[in-house]
Amino acid sequence: MTDTLLILPGDGIGPEVMAEVSRIIDWFGDKRGLKFDVSEDLVGGAAYDVHGVPLADATMAKAQEVDAVLLGAVGGPKYDNLDFSVKPERGLLRLRKEMDLFANLRPAQCFDALADFSSLKRDVVAGLDIMIVRELTSGIYFGEPRGIIEENGERVGINTQRYTESEIDRVARSAFELARKRGNKVCSMEKANVMESGILWREVVQRVHDADYPDVELSHMYADAGGMQLCRWPKQFDVIVTDNLFGDLLSDVAAMLTGSLGMLPSASLGAPMANGRPKALYEPVHGSAPDIAGQGKANPIACILSFAMALRYSFDQGDEATRLEKAVEKVLADGVRTADLMQAEGGTPVTTAGMGDAILAALEASL
Ligand code: NAD
Repeated sequence: MTDTLLILPGDGIGPEVMAEVSRIIDWFGDKRGLKFDVSEDLVGGAAYDVHGVPLADATMAKAQEVDAVLLGAVGGPKYDNLDFSVKPERGLLRLRKEMDLFANLRPAQCFDALADFSSLKRDVVAGLDIMIVRELTSGIYFGEPRGIIEENGERVGINTQRYTESEIDRVARSAFELARKRGNKVCSMEKANVMESGILWREVVQRVHDADYPDVELSHMYADAGGMQLCRWPKQFDVIVTDNLFGDLLSDVAAMLTGSLGMLPSASLGAPMANGRPKALYEPVHGSAPDIAGQGKANPIACILSFAMALRYSFDQGDEATRLEKAVEKVLADGVRTADLMQAEGGTPVTTAGMGDAILAALEASL
């Protein structure tokens, strides 16, 4: 059975960074025998220009069928005045919603050569490699009742934190599965000391662990202490699993441990499909960067590392994912820098395609 991959370059720098990923996909096909059945389609403003909607139904249907979707970025000033319902970002939201991608994976990985980008001391972040798994489709951002009401002559803002056992169960499973492909360690974060939803969260995570993942090391931590520990000594963690709100905060803190936006990949995973693989969307954390689009200045590494995540988590090619990550690490160690990385000491400035060339050369040298 051939592995299937849907590529959605999108807008702005999306197509530029995706062009480099496509060359890397071809390299893995030619040199490592990883043959993907790749199709490409439109999303965001690019889809609106052709179809009048930011994601056509046919593209949505294709996304539901493939083993993994890889997206560049959407949006741009050209589309700022469009009606809300057809804005480019709605295309991405539709993908996340209809694929029911409940586990958002945000790795925080610090390459040695860029350790001085962090606001923390070099020895705290150099070599860091952790993964935050954030529950993405429930919790306080979605719970009812919500709103602003009148009570006793003043206004009251209301949001409700709400988690069902099955929602906790499924995201916990995602975290344990990921841990098995990494350092085999999960730390679950909540506020079981003050929140009933936190008590339930802790109970269910422990239950899933004891029943099906006893081989994975599990610890629990209050989310506020977790935030502190992330800044104090982040290398103590492997996988962190947490709810939507805490995950929103903690994944941004963790991202900033490592520096530039042009370096950050992400994945969103859903339920397993018939072939046992999770539904999956991989994308860089950055947007379409209209300020540098079309100038060859974009750093393609976030998108390339998103493909490395796809290799590891959708295609069970952990060794090849490591090969690609090591190639990126080597290129950075050699001082190859796109414009966003030029504030680091010295370095050779390259374009987007120049960075792609250097990573391909490092892959070639890895054989
Ligand atoms: P942005 O991430 O596009 O850009 C922020 C800054 O980071 C810019 O200065 C940009 O030049 C720089 N930057 C981003 N990615 C880079 C890369 N790969 N290499 C070098 N520099 C990079 O965020 P923004 O400016 O707030 O938003 C621009 C557009 O992107 C908006 O339309 C927004 O809605 C959209 N957006 C899309 C996504 C997505 O597709 N997932 C995410 C965020 C923003």
